[in-house]
Amino acid sequence: MRRIEHILRCICFVALFAMGAGALAQPVVTKDGNGFATSVKNPYDYAITIKLFFDDGTQRSVDLQPGETYDNIGQNCKSMTCNCQDWSKGTIYRRAATAQSVTHDNVKREDNGSTQETSKTDADEGSRVEPKSVREAPKKSEELPPLITETNIETVPVEYVGWRNKPTIMHDFEDFLERTSYYSLEKIQQERQDIDESINNLQNGIADSKKYIEALRLVKATMASNLDGNRENKDKFIDDFLGQYTNSDSDKTSLREEMSAQLDERLAQHEENLRVLDETLTAWEASQGKTNWPLIALIAGLVTAGIGLVFWYAKAKKKNAKRVKNRSNAYQGVSAQEASSAIVVRRKTTSILKKQSLENVVDNPAYMKIDCAEFCQQSAVRRIYIKNTCIKDIYNMYAEDLRNPENPKEDGCMVLGRWVHDKENDEYYVSLEDVVMPGDDAVFAEQELNFGGKIKLKVSERLRKLRRETDLQYDMTCWVHSHPGLKVFFSNQDTSVHMQLRHPTHPRFLTALVVDILTPQQELGIFTFKPDGTINSHNDMLRTYSLEEFYKWAIESERNTFKREDHYNTLALARQHGDDCNGVHLSNGAIIDMSQIVVERSSGNAGIVHGFIQREGKCAEIAVTKICQEESVPDSEPVGCFIIAQYCSIPTVRRAIEPYIGKIRFALVYSAADGMVTTIPILNNELVTDESYYGEQTLEDLKIWTRRRR
Ligand SMILES: [Zn+2]
Repeated sequence: MRRIEHILRCICFVALFAMGAGALAQPVVTKDGNGFATSVKNPYDYAITIKLFFDDGTQRSVDLQPGETYDNIGQNCKSMTCNCQDWSKGTIYRRAATAQSVTHDNVKREDNGSTQETSKTDADEGSRVEPKSVREAPKKSEELPPLITETNIETVPVEYVGWRNKPTIMHDFEDFLERTSYYSLEKIQQERQDIDESINNLQNGIADSKKYIEALRLVKATMASNLDGNRENKDKFIDDFLGQYTNSDSDKTSLREEMSAQLDERLAQHEENLRVLDETLTAWEASQGKTNWPLIALIAGLVTAGIGLVFWYAKAKKKNAKRVKNRSNAYQGVSAQEASSAIVVRRKTTSILKKQSLENVVDNPAYMKIDCAEFCQQSAVRRIYIKNTCIKDIYNMYAEDLRNPENPKEDGCMVLGRWVHDKENDEYYVSLEDVVMPGDDAVFAEQELNFGGKIKLKVSERLRKLRRETDLQYDMTCWVHSHPGLKVFFSNQDTSVHMQLRHPTHPRFLTALVVDILTPQQELGIFTFKPDGTINSHNDMLRTYSLEEFYKWAIESERNTFKREDHYNTLALARQHGDDCNGVHLSNGAIIDMSQIVVERSSGNAGIVHGFIQREGKCAEIAVTKICQEESVPDSEPVGCFIIAQYCSIPTVRRAIEPYIGKIRFALVYSAADGMVTTIPILNNELVTDESYYGEQTLEDLKIWTRRRR
């Protein structure tokens, strides 16, 4: 039973990409009644079955092997269903029987996939689609041959019409965004890289910097106007997209919100690009008439290293001209703005924004190092570095599940980190650092493991924050899910998720962890790409690991990497110190725990202080991680008592700590009367009465300290 359940879960895990339960896709209807769907192709690496529904009411089932094309449809096929998970990748080859049935107009509509292409104002730029068919076979509508023969079949993206479930629509939307010239993440990254590159060119001293700057000013103006236009047009853009679905209004309202957030996020990225360019130009203007050095110094921090001297301006000009020529055929009347935006939007082989480095990871004891040769024979990833906090987060996520097996809250997560590509050996080094949990739209029901759409937003927000704060390139480097009681393996569905999560230009650094949380040691398998781009399967696995062991290591390593500067030592100002309790270092979390307990409880022994002891010579430094009611918590041991009293009186404290003498090393006493927190060491099992050993701070000061750190 569990196995079946799990397999269902696995199937539905694809819902990560916003598929609902049930593997059957909604009926697909070709929108354009004039076009004959004469062929259909299976784009997957597994067999599928499609069901064709014809005009005359008859139907037919067709089994298609991977890559196989069925081109014997023979009559007007109006709709079809498919038993695959993501039919949007499929293509229908449409072929017209006569010149009359393929008019200029109808080809154009088909070319644009689902919708839009209604008005072609500049503000509409974002809604313009560049369908695959145009890129792959740049056939101009004006040049359409009168009769489309078998040798020049048009490839038409499959269209969805009618009701679809909400997650699927979000998925369609994201796919659709990737096909637009404005909202595509790839394009946004290219834009940024082009800006970086042009800054770099300035730094390297371009031949004609004056003209170059002029061109950049034009680019800036175009970007600003595109940004405004798309902002204004946002609602219409969403409405147009939703127009193709017949879902209920309440469905659409919630979708609209989600889509709007999605677009805002991407607009913000464009804005950030614009800001960087603007800064450069401002700096340039400021340095006009002087030497170039101040500018160089200023922009040096902005550019990514390693880009050679490229005469971008000349290249861009040529490219621009070519683009305008190409496009003017496909779209009548390319505006000047569209043309100049082509200067910055250029296809590149990489889309790296920030510096890529694992420098502070390689010898860092906070990271567990795993050579991939340990668990598989061939791997595109050479070594994985997993941060201790990341291991703890994954472990805790499943610990929650195990405590509450009836209603598991989380079944998987995504992990962000860094990666470096060793070009010489074509191998990747990857770090796993920051866990992102699914959003509240995730559904973890019995037969559904649906990560929802919000996790994608969370991931991109977190990435942006990490990149900004560290100035390093972060990406999604891993995803994690559980096979409760089913052993560790990589299912076909897991493979398809993995394929979809790949980085667009460096597809092979992504890793995956599969945990069987119902084995005693919480068996864990690591899956990576092979050098040829396929994924290591269960059969390739040389060994598995234990999440339990990983966790123990993480706790240990955290102790070893205890950082004083991340803690507040309440005994720092005491005039005397005892060896058994030389310092009491409160973590942020412990201070927050303390302030919460003070609100909830009024007197007596209010909580157990947990933490660990860090020996430095013969002195014991005590790191406090948590204060709570429980006597034992998994990551640490009891080290003290937290007592609330009206005043700090020794007899009261002595009574309160009595049951714990022999186990603890200090008492933290909060005096309600003056808000003071007093740390009283316990030396030789005796509460110290000499006040020169005490530490005193107000709780308010401690709270202010935590805020400052944030
Ligand atoms: Zn699975």
